[in-house]
Amino acid sequence: MTKIDIHNLTVTAKHGVFDKEKVNPQPFVFDCSIDYDFEKAAASDDLALTLDYGNIMQDITDFCRNNCFDLIETLCYKTAQMLMDKYPINGISLTVKKPQAPVDLPFENVSVSVSLARKDVYLSLGSNLGERQEVLNNAINQLAENKAVKVLKVSSPYENPPYGGVAQYPFINMAVKISTYLSPDALLDFLHAIEAKAHRNREVRWGDRTLDIDIIFYGDMIIDTDRLTIPHADYHNRDFVLIPMGEIAPNFVCPLKRKRISELLKEYS
Ligand code: ATP
Ligand code: CA
Ligand code: CA
Repeated sequence: MTKIDIHNLTVTAKHGVFDKEKVNPQPFVFDCSIDYDFEKAAASDDLALTLDYGNIMQDITDFCRNNCFDLIETLCYKTAQMLMDKYPINGISLTVKKPQAPVDLPFENVSVSVSLARKDVYLSLGSNLGERQEVLNNAINQLAENKAVKVLKVSSPYENPPYGGVAQYPFINMAVKISTYLSPDALLDFLHAIEAKAHRNREVRWGDRTLDIDIIFYGDMIIDTDRLTIPHADYHNRDFVLIPMGEIAPNFVCPLKRKRISELLKEYS
């Protein structure tokens, strides 16, 4: 792994909860560690193949000066997001220090940090109400419009009978590969917002729905909370998930089962 670090970049700007902080500028000090693959640049000694750290420092400086946030948490997160959106970087850890925070005690500085990392994520989409294909295409467009998300692969649509004995109408299902730096929870919120825009009704589990988007895999993470089970708890028992996944990612290895999608498909049939 290769990275580029910037230490103690100091910007004079106006962030803080108090009125006087919005009027009188004070220093904000940035530390930044960027996960960036510069192996090719190192081999060829070519500036064009690496990141221009001067530009990055200028962007941090401009962003810090041109905004006025109450919280350094916001400044920190939004700066990291701005850099992830603008540069082809895999991940970033950013710390913002506030040496003149308005606390009347002896201290060097107070700081907050964030780490963002891009992960490959596989989604399963389904629709069995309304203009099904249009609903799915719309959902994929909304994914692509989010700067935090890149749509990398989209499977063909597959028509399937309803699952679970509740829904009545046939589904169209698709699998989509994205990369994102949204956390699993933030991604789920975003997917729920897309479902809500498609007027998804959540009253009956496995009932008819205009749009359902499930997270099947999030990188190689294994999550089991009240809100999220990743890998999806039942995906391996569902041909309507495995078949489109098999089209776009036959060699993806499930971090839990340690088997390729192509193997799981063979076991299923
Ligand atoms: P199933 O999850 O069996 O496919 P469903 O998709 O019909 O059923 P929903 O009503 O869409 O179920 O979701 C219920 C809850 O499942 C969501 O609010 C979410 O918190 C939770 N959930 C847990 N794991 C996941 C996951 N991997 N992807 C999406 N939602 C998940
Ligand atoms: Ca589902
Ligand atoms: Ca769901």
